[in-house]
Amino acid sequence: MTTIKLHNTKTRKREEFVPIDPENVRMYVCGPTVYDRAHLGNARPVIVFDVLYRLLRHVYGPDHVTYVRNFTDVDDKINARAAESGRSIAEITAETTKWFLDDMAAVGALEPNEMPRATAYIPQMVKMIEGLIASGHAYAAEGHVLFAVESYKEYGALSGRSIDDMIAGARVEVAPYKRNPMDFVLWKPSDADTPGWDSPWGRGRPGWHIECSAMSYELLGAHFDIHGGGNDLMFPHHENEIAQSCCAHPGSGFANYWLHNEMLQVEGKKMSKSLGNFFTVRDLLDQGVPGEVIRFVMLSTHYRKPMDWTEKKREEAEKTLLGWKETIDLERDAVADLFAGDNPPPSILDALANDLNTSLALTEVRKIAKNAAATVQGKVELAEALSFLGFDYTHSWKITFGTSLDKTIGDRVDLEALELRLSEVRSKAMQTKNFDEVDQMKAILVDAGIEVRMSKDGVTLDVTPDFDPAKLEALK
Ligand code: AMP
Ligand code: ZN
Repeated sequence: MTTIKLHNTKTRKREEFVPIDPENVRMYVCGPTVYDRAHLGNARPVIVFDVLYRLLRHVYGPDHVTYVRNFTDVDDKINARAAESGRSIAEITAETTKWFLDDMAAVGALEPNEMPRATAYIPQMVKMIEGLIASGHAYAAEGHVLFAVESYKEYGALSGRSIDDMIAGARVEVAPYKRNPMDFVLWKPSDADTPGWDSPWGRGRPGWHIECSAMSYELLGAHFDIHGGGNDLMFPHHENEIAQSCCAHPGSGFANYWLHNEMLQVEGKKMSKSLGNFFTVRDLLDQGVPGEVIRFVMLSTHYRKPMDWTEKKREEAEKTLLGWKETIDLERDAVADLFAGDNPPPSILDALANDLNTSLALTEVRKIAKNAAATVQGKVELAEALSFLGFDYTHSWKITFGTSLDKTIGDRVDLEALELRLSEVRSKAMQTKNFDEVDQMKAILVDAGIEVRMSKDGVTLDVTPDFDPAKLEALK
């Protein structure tokens, strides 16, 4: 069996991954707060943990891995969005959840086994909070319930900080009802305009952190294998999850391995609305960047390193992926016959098993691709490698960039626009019985390396390996 090694934030070491129960390997990843489109940074943990999920499924069997990723659908940012837009919270969270799933499917992420919504677990959170009060780890004050950090001596161990450091370094909310400024909210009161649930402490809503403790407990148990998320969540969110869960279930240990991805930047700068370099996954997809290109760029940097999204990387990724797919396409049917779907080349498996070294995996794919042109077997190996990394080798996305023919010149082409134009010319010709223009256009396309198929169902175009966009100039 493949030995997987993972860098564990908890021990700050690369460790051999030994599951608690190989029959049911369990992983929890903190998911999005659903009030807006996922930005490009949000896609990073999704893709990173998707690679891990695929690896675990390969090693332990697809039916022996349980991956849970939550949706935070109760949060003050959601309330604010509802207030400013005049729309209901339910409408906003349902719409954003669907957007998220669509966008993440576009970047090749498998859906987790469970995707719990926080609002579906309020009774479980209340029960956990009651238990924490009963055991002296939490206290109720002025309609709030707070976790008493001093009651948990390990507090700060994950991120390596002491409570005093945290007080000095963090912008902690000082409130008269807190015994210690670091105490954090488990429950808070809601006014008539804010979503709220009845509880022993009055009508209110949960603090953010308790949802992950309650949902992971319900779906994975008190002790499970892997907990993941971006490293911005390490403190305070994950530190608080650990405190809540370990105090609610003493001796359980909570998660054995903690994995954190580094942040994504854009052209060397933090992505932010004020710098004008903020964009969503959907923005890129709408510009015609295939989701697989986004995935490729993400995988080209190891998850524990900051990753820089650049236009140059996007272009290179596009070219490389397209080249690989074209190689496979040369003998597509023969490859399809031999493709197994879960037979990764050993070099790819080794790279991923070594703390998810996706950039090394891509280097290995490059080597495989170099030899792939010569044999069918080589192409099958390439297809298996791509498939294991979450790229669909059968899905030969056309180079569909831009939205008008004006943008077809250069190294991109909008095949859909061309298809439309040719069908229009063809319909006209069918009426006039003069096919000169159709023939002329077809000749230019074929000369440019585009395969043209016309049938009673319409016109279909496909790029071939001989594609030369410069020759499309003739269409202008
Ligand atoms: P949020 O909805 O802000 O709680 O974020 C959802 C997930 O995206 C969390 O795992 C965050 O750590 C992660 N995340 C947010 N911003 C970035 C970024 N710039 N780079 C990488 N991951 C991010
Ligand atoms: Zn969480």
